[in-house]
Parts: sequence; structure tokens; C-alpha cells
Amino acid sequence: MSTHETDAKPSDRIQGANTREQVLATVGRISVHAKNVHIEAMRHGRHDLELDIDRILAATRDLTDRVEQLIGAGTQAIWSIGGLNPAAQQALRHELRTPLNAIKGYGEMLQEDLASLTGTPLQAAVEHLASAANDLLTLFDHMVALSVRKSHPGAIDEEAIPPVVSDKPQRLPRDRDTSSTTVQSGTILIVDDNEANRDLLSRRLTRNGYRVSMAVGGQAALDALTEADFDLVLLDLMMPDINGLEVLQRMKADVRLRMVPVIMITASAETDSAIHCIEAGAEDYLPKPFDPVLLRARIGACLEKKRWRDREQDYLRRLEAHTKDLQESLKQQTATSELLKVIGRSIFDLRSVFNLLVEYCVKLCESEHAFILRFDGRVLRLVADHNVLPDMKAYVERHPITPGRGSGAGRAVLERCTIHIPDIRNDPEYTYYGTLAVPLRTVLSVPMLRGDEVLGVIAINRHEVRPFTDSQITLMETFADQAVIAIENVRLFEEVQARTQELAHSVAELKALGEVSQAVNSTIDLETVLATIVANAVQLSDTDGGSIYVLHEASGEFEPRSTYGMDEAVIAGFKAKPIRIGDKTVVDQATVQRVAVQIADVHHDDASRVHDSILRAGFRALLTIPLLGADRIVGALVVRRKRPGEFPKKTIELLQTFAAQSVLAIQNARLFHEIEKKSRELEIASQHQSQFVANMSHELRTPLAAMLGYAELLQEGIYDALPKKSLPILRRIESNGKHLLGLINTVLDISKIEAGQFQLNLAEYALGTIVETVLVATESLAATKKLAFNIEIAKGLPYGIGDEQRLTQVLLNLVGNAIKFTDAGEVRIAAGAANGHFELSVSDTGPGIPPEERERIFEKFRQVDGSNTRAKGGTGLGLAIAREIVEMHGGRIWVESTMGQGSTFRMELPMRAATGGAT
Ligand code: ADP
Repeated sequence: MSTHETDAKPSDRIQGANTREQVLATVGRISVHAKNVHIEAMRHGRHDLELDIDRILAATRDLTDRVEQLIGAGTQAIWSIGGLNPAAQQALRHELRTPLNAIKGYGEMLQEDLASLTGTPLQAAVEHLASAANDLLTLFDHMVALSVRKSHPGAIDEEAIPPVVSDKPQRLPRDRDTSSTTVQSGTILIVDDNEANRDLLSRRLTRNGYRVSMAVGGQAALDALTEADFDLVLLDLMMPDINGLEVLQRMKADVRLRMVPVIMITASAETDSAIHCIEAGAEDYLPKPFDPVLLRARIGACLEKKRWRDREQDYLRRLEAHTKDLQESLKQQTATSELLKVIGRSIFDLRSVFNLLVEYCVKLCESEHAFILRFDGRVLRLVADHNVLPDMKAYVERHPITPGRGSGAGRAVLERCTIHIPDIRNDPEYTYYGTLAVPLRTVLSVPMLRGDEVLGVIAINRHEVRPFTDSQITLMETFADQAVIAIENVRLFEEVQARTQELAHSVAELKALGEVSQAVNSTIDLETVLATIVANAVQLSDTDGGSIYVLHEASGEFEPRSTYGMDEAVIAGFKAKPIRIGDKTVVDQATVQRVAVQIADVHHDDASRVHDSILRAGFRALLTIPLLGADRIVGALVVRRKRPGEFPKKTIELLQTFAAQSVLAIQNARLFHEIEKKSRELEIASQHQSQFVANMSHELRTPLAAMLGYAELLQEGIYDALPKKSLPILRRIESNGKHLLGLINTVLDISKIEAGQFQLNLAEYALGTIVETVLVATESLAATKKLAFNIEIAKGLPYGIGDEQRLTQVLLNLVGNAIKFTDAGEVRIAAGAANGHFELSVSDTGPGIPPEERERIFEKFRQVDGSNTRAKGGTGLGLAIAREIVEMHGGRIWVESTMGQGSTFRMELPMRAATGGAT
């Protein structure tokens, strides 16, 4: 049957026979040791091991039977070259593999179980059994190596030949203690058609701490994999239904299973296929029989790799999600900032903000379309939309949305919060579109709120049931806020503009009013005032012309006193046909009814109410404000416009102010004229009076002088000696007469001053002489009151030029007052010169003069004690005359005083009085 058969050499044949003998002998040894293990186990009472030992015995029997069959006498031909021919090897390996693996596997399990019983016969028996099983394997290896060398001499590097038992167990560290105590985690699926293999593997892995599931074949494995998650699959290569490679390929083709690592379980001869499997995506392979250490190492490594891969996958997934989130929020932020920019730019243009907003809503929230609706306090109306189907849009435009639960937007207004309806078909309250077929499913409506007030709603909709995400809802709420900001901006801007305009207008009004009142207050020229008023009235009322009429009560005619913007023809027209009381024109009506009267359009009014020349000049609208005094009609203010139209209330109010100002100006002017007339009359009267007093005083002086003269003569005894007793009476007549003369002189002086007839007689004088004259005249008075009287006259005073008599009169008056008001102490006169002036002072130790009186006492008739019961006499004219005299000399007079200590009247006199003397 084989080409090798005929080539067989005798030496090969001998070797073949030897090998056969060795195989039979080793199988025999295995059988003996297996029985021995059983016996020893029973002897040690280890019934717990019986099941495994039975399996070993059964496998031994199976092995023996197969060896007998395969290499019995009748099949010697297969040993033709050196060892087995390749076909025979295949058969042998296949046939013997299963029982041998079972023997070795269960043997190792026993070894592990009995590790603590070292040195006992049972343990020794198990060791023998294991070593015999190993020997058989070594023998197979040897045979295979031999046959390969024979068939390809020199071609193969011995090291490269994969050993049947691929890894040499003895090279790996055996660490049974660790293996039994280290608890591993992971769920492993064992796929093997051989029950012993499954059993051995699962027991070993369970012992190592793994969770284990088993499948008896390829299909069962695929079923199990779809039902549960596994961390690792141990997959037998050769299986009757679907073989391992195909299961592996199907797993790799399945996205869900692709990542589950697979370790192939291979028989010693299947190394090539195992490599195939690794190429197809298996992680590794494990040769049968299993070496426990190798098994643990490979599974551990594989699971560790899987864990890392899982972690990596998880990390990647999270990274992906995170990146997606970031991208989304970046998109949202970009949109938000773009929107803010537009809001900032478009203070005037709300529409473009809304248009951009709906566009972003659709783009960023993956909605089919978007609406913006404004709420007017009653209904919501469409103001912007994007992608809305035409019939839907038309419907919304025709059916403004009312607050209520029937629509998303209406509900948002009602509830004042975001409304999210995942599917309107599942929302029995949603009725808005009625019978109109709309593809709407998921609806999101966000109210635009300023405080509690709803300004509108932003709504986005989807044509499928796909609820919006939290981040989309948040974004929409941000958009709603921004819409509110935009609306607010526009509102504030408009408000500010309106205010600014109002303010500008008020400023203009105030300016005009200021101008008018300034004119009224500062100008007595009525024409100027009225011209200012009418000009301002026309400008501020935005009219084309105006007039102020003043009523002449006597004639009943309204005289146009001032006009603005009216041409000569009109003015001439007024002159030709004056407006008058009772003529039923608007001026007449306004003044009689005492209210403002306006005509919005003369074309639609009674023409007789308007003066012909006004009609001719093309004026269309006019406004008349009556000028009213407290009890009479003063006149009227009229403004006229070529454009028809009502006059606003504000204009009427403003013109009323102007009217009041005009009345004031007209009345002021009247009063001013009256006052002027009165004062002229008064002046004349006063002149007459002064003249009369001056004449009178003069006339009184002559008889008085005669009386005094005769009294003097009588005293001197010129008319005979008089009785002694009459002398004191005569003296009293004389002194009273002198007093009266003084009084008359004073009155005369004052009236001269008032009549502007007071004059100085300038001549050279010596100040010292004046002082001494006064001293002589008043000494006795001071002595009577027991007052000290002192004078101080500086040496070498120059002569002055002035009215000596009048200056004496002044000093006499000051000294007289000093003595009159001082009850104890001293009166002192000082005369000196400084800086080209004479300095003259009269000091006393009297009561002093209160500060507020110190200037007033120089006024006519002014006395500190003005009562009738005052202690000291006097007219209150002395100081007034004194000041007049001093000032006529070009000097000044004043008083310094300390209450309770005394007063000092001081004079400064130029040494030379100005010639002529000023009045
Ligand atoms: P009369 O005739 O009242 O003195 P005068 O014009 O001379 O009029 O003085 C006005 C007033 O000034 C006096 O009534 C007095 O009240 C006050 N007065 C003037 N001189 C003195 C003084 N030396 N001491 C106090 N009061 C004085």
C-alpha cells in the first residue's frame, strides 16, 4: 500500500520490530501501574479517588486494546521503514492519543491530589503510572522524529521539528502550591467532543478559580457564545460537526465575538493546523495532553491580554463618547458665540437674529424644522421659521397659537417651562393641527422668558420619534435666553432713542422757555418780548407762522402786535380788516370761551372762522391760545401750519405756557408805563413840596430872627431896665428861639438837599479853629452833665479849603450827639492829618450803637430809639446832613462803636475840597 514498503531495508525492519516491542512493553507497564494505583488507593481508603482511578483503568484498557489491534502480528507491514510509515503514524497517534491523554491527565490530577502524601506507596504508584505514560509519549516522539529524518534526510533542522508534546513540561517551573491557591477570575468556554478532555480541563480550571462552561461540539459552542459572554474559549481543533477552525472563523466574522480570545486545543500531530488557526486569529494553542503549568500560563496570559484589551476597548469607547460630547459642545458653543455676535451687531435687526437662531436650532439639534413665535399677551404668532413645510407654515400663520395644552408652544406659555413631547401621537392632549396631516412626532417647545413674562416660544420638531437629548434641550434653553437678550436689547435701544428724542425736545422747550422768560424779565420793550415769544412758539410747535394779538378794549379790535413767518400781504390783510370781538373767528371764540381752539384742516371747516388773508396764504391748520389776565382778555397767540392735522396735546400745553408769558409781558409793559407816569408825577409833586418847605423855612427865619434880636435888645436893657425877674424868662425865650432857629435851619438844609439846591461856600479854613469854635459852644453843656471834655489837635496842621461854616455844623452835630447820649465819662475831639487827608474824630463813653444801626443812622429821620417815649430828643436829620456835607467835600464819615463802651464818629476830609462841591 505504500511505496516505502518495497524500499524497506532489513535494518529498518529490525528497528521496526524493536519499536513495536517497546510500545507493547510500555503499554503493559501502564496497565500494571494503573492497577497498582487502584489497589493502593483502596488500601489507603481513598474512595474519593476511585472515580478518577476507574477512568485511568478504563483508558488503560482502551489503550491496550487499540495497541493490540494496531500493531498486532497482522499489521507488521506498517513498520516497514525505521519506524512507522506516515499513514500508520497518523493512525497510531489518532487512535492512541485519546486514551493516553486521559491516562496522563487523570494521572496528573492524582499527582496533584496526593502531593502531600510523598513517600507513600500510593503516591509512588501514581508517579510510576505517570512516568510510564510519559515514556510512551517519548517513544512516539522518537518514532516520528526517526521517520521524518528518514524521508527527508538532511533537509530538516532537527530543532525546527515541532515536538509532539510541544513544550517540555520540565522546563517550566512547577509550582503546584501557587496554582492551587491563586484564585483566577474569568469565564471560560471549553469546547471539546471528548468527554475526558472536557472533564479534565474543566476540573483543572475550576480548581484554578475560573468559571467554566462546556460545549460538546462546534455548533453547541456557537450557541453558547451567542447566549453568554466569555472571556476565553478553549477550542478543540478536531470535532465531528463543525471543526475548530471553522468555529474560529465564524467567531472572527462576528463583531460581537471577534474580541473573545480563543486558544486552540490540538493533538500532538496537529501543530501545522494549530499554526493555521493562529493565522486565522487564535491567540495560542495548547497541545494534548495538557501540561497543567503550561495550561495555567497560557490561559493566564491570554486572559490578562483580554483584560487589557477590554480596558483598552472601554477606554476607547469612553474616549469616543467624550470626543463626541466635546465636538457637540464645541459646535454648540460656536453657534452660541456666533449668535451673540449677531445679537451684538443687530440692535436694529431682530429678524436676522431670529433667522439665524432657527437655522442653528435645526442644524445643532438635528430637528427637521424650527419656529420662533412671539407672544403678544394673548396669542403666539410666527416670526421666524426654518425648513417648515409650506402647508404647516400656512396653517400656523392662519391659526395663531393660544396658551393651552393643545400644542407644544401653547403648553410652554401656559406652564412657563420647557415642554418636551416624545411623540405627539401618544399625547391625547395635543390637538393643534386638527385634521391637517402633519409628519410631526417629537416636539420640543422652549418659552422665552423675561422674569415671569413670556416673550415667545422657540420650537423644534422631528418627523420621527426620537426624543431630544439633555444637551440639545439645554442648548435650546440657551437659545431662548439669547432670543430674550436680543429682544431686550432692541427694546432698550428703542426706549433710549425715544427718551433721547423726548429729552432733546424738552431741552429745546426749556431753552425756548428760558429765552422767553429772560426776554420777559429783562426787556421792558414789549415788541422784543413778543417777537421772541412768537418766534419760539412757531419753531417749537413745528408750524410755519404765528401772531400775537393784543386786544384794545375800547375798540374791541385785536391788534397783531408781533408776527413770525407771515408775509406782508397777510399783515396788510389784518390791518385792512381787523379781527374783533364777536366776529366768530377762532381768535374771538378762543378768547370768549377762554380755551385753546384749533382747526385741523381749514378745508373741512367753516371758512368764516378764519381770516381771509390766512386762507389765501394757504394755511391749513391753526391753533389759537387765548391770552387771559386775571379779569380780562389780553389777546391771543396763534400758530399756523400749511400742513393739515391735529395739534398734539403737548404743543397746546407748551403754547399755553407761552401765552401766560405773553400775558405777563403785556401786563408788565402796562404796569411799567403806569409806574413811569406815576413817578414822573411824584417827582414833580416832590419838587413842589421841597420848594414849599424851603420857602416856608426861609419865611419863618425872618420873623424868628427879628424875635431873637428884640429879645436880645430887651435883655441888654435898651428899652429901659426891666424887672429882674423877667431876665431869666427873656433868656429862655432867646434859647428856645435859637433852638427853633436850629430846627428851621435843619429842615431848610434837608429840603435844600432834596431840592438839589444845597451848596458849599468854599474858602480857606483852619481845622483847629473849627474845633475850638465847637469846644466853646458845647463846653458848658458837657460841664452841666459833668462830662470830661478833651481835645487833641495835631501841631502844624495845614489850612484846608472847604465850607468852614458847614464843617463846623457837622462837628457841632457830632459833639452835640456825643454829649446828648453820654451820661458819664468823657467826650473827646481829635484832629490830625494823614495821607493828604484831615482826620477828625469825636469819641464818647456813651451806650454805643448796635452794629445793624451803624449805617442806618446816617439815613434821614433815622434814630436808634425811634419810640415816642425816647429819652433823648432830636429829629434824626443831623447825621444825614453831616454825611451830605462831608461827601460834598469829597470825604467820608462813619462810626465805630462798642456796645456799652462808647462810639467814635470818624471823618476823612480831603484837605482841598473839590471846587463846586458835588451833590
Ligand atoms: P438826632 O437828632 O436824633 O440826634 P442824628 O441824625 O444826629 O439825629 O442822630 C441819629 C441817631 O443816631 C440818634 O437818634 C441816635 O440814636 C444815634 N446817635 C448819634 N450819635 C450817637 C452817639 N454819640 N451815641 C449814641 N447814639 C448816637
